[in-house]
Amino acid sequence: MADAWLDGSAWARAALETPVVLVDVDRVDANISRMATFMRQRGVALRPHAKTHKSLAVARRQLAAGAVGLTVATVGEAEVFAAGGIEDLFIAYPVIAVGARSERLRRLASTCRLSVGVDSITGVEALAAAFRGATPARVLIEIDSGGARSGVLPEMAGTLAGQAAVLGLDVAGVFTHAGQGYADPARRAAAADEEVDGLARAAEAMRTAGIEPTIISAGSTPTAVLSARDPVTEERPGTYVYGDRQQTVLAGEPAGVDASVALVVAATVVSHGARGGFLVDAGAKILTKDVAPYLAGHGVVLGYPDAVLTRVNDHHGIAEIPAGATRPAIGEIVLIVPNHVCPVVNLVDELVVVSGGRVVDRWPVDARGRNS
Ligand code: PLP
Repeated sequence: MADAWLDGSAWARAALETPVVLVDVDRVDANISRMATFMRQRGVALRPHAKTHKSLAVARRQLAAGAVGLTVATVGEAEVFAAGGIEDLFIAYPVIAVGARSERLRRLASTCRLSVGVDSITGVEALAAAFRGATPARVLIEIDSGGARSGVLPEMAGTLAGQAAVLGLDVAGVFTHAGQGYADPARRAAAADEEVDGLARAAEAMRTAGIEPTIISAGSTPTAVLSARDPVTEERPGTYVYGDRQQTVLAGEPAGVDASVALVVAATVVSHGARGGFLVDAGAKILTKDVAPYLAGHGVVLGYPDAVLTRVNDHHGIAEIPAGATRPAIGEIVLIVPNHVCPVVNLVDELVVVSGGRVVDRWPVDARGRNS
């Protein structure tokens, strides 16, 4: 399997200090532009989830292409992006505003347009207490549209929204993440339908409670283009910006790599071991251990389609390859498409940016490790 990542690698793979994460800025820009154009044509607002990249450089590109703001998962991520000048942030997570977090949320709400998620009366009460007498944040009720994670059942959104409004919170709408779209490649379309249906029922429940939802927000890369339709007003995909093996397989490309893959891990072949196969210097501390049930191994080794990264230890990636297949030489630098890109990015301080066959920049992972 050839991939353009391997074409004329004049960016001197030999000069890389591996393991290192490479990002192709042209592919990043193409991914940003494709999603932005699609959402603009659908009349749906795009609020990309920044947990994938955690980088101001990427955030600014997304906003320049028309994103209305960013989604984040944590207060810490929000602080980094607010300090970097991003003015509209949604913490799409059931935030429990207690202790020091309350003060941090108040400070954030005074420096940017802040929205936060909530899915319990305890969460509502904590938010109401945290923002009493301060600049308020907008609140969105999280619903479970089939992902079996956080969120109330759609029909309960009205009750919770009503309780939040009574306590003085500014309830702007509802949101969901259709995590069930990750279950297997055949689930995508059904997951998108469930996302839209759940949000529609939740919005109706809010109206019945006397609150008009102005934001009806869906969000996942596998479902984004399928659920961007009435009554959804906003989409929050994140992973689309870099792509990864999992997304590519879910989108129908079993090889796990296509032109949307904008990030790879470069690793050096450090050994052939004693039993065939080969070892690379990228292990769990850069590739992570994330393996979806429908994937074999810990990533795709470009140019070596028969190789399977069967195991990862902290600093070793152990690949098996059938007898007779060509294996890379010791010392060769190979490129690996990771299974799931988001945790990979969170393991490195910076990304090496390439374009047209050369290293052109380095992007810091500004919100690396800001997981609280
Ligand atoms: N919104 C929420 C609440 C999420 O949890 C996620 C991802 O986990 C996203 C949006 C973005 O989804 P994806 O990673 O599929 O792009």
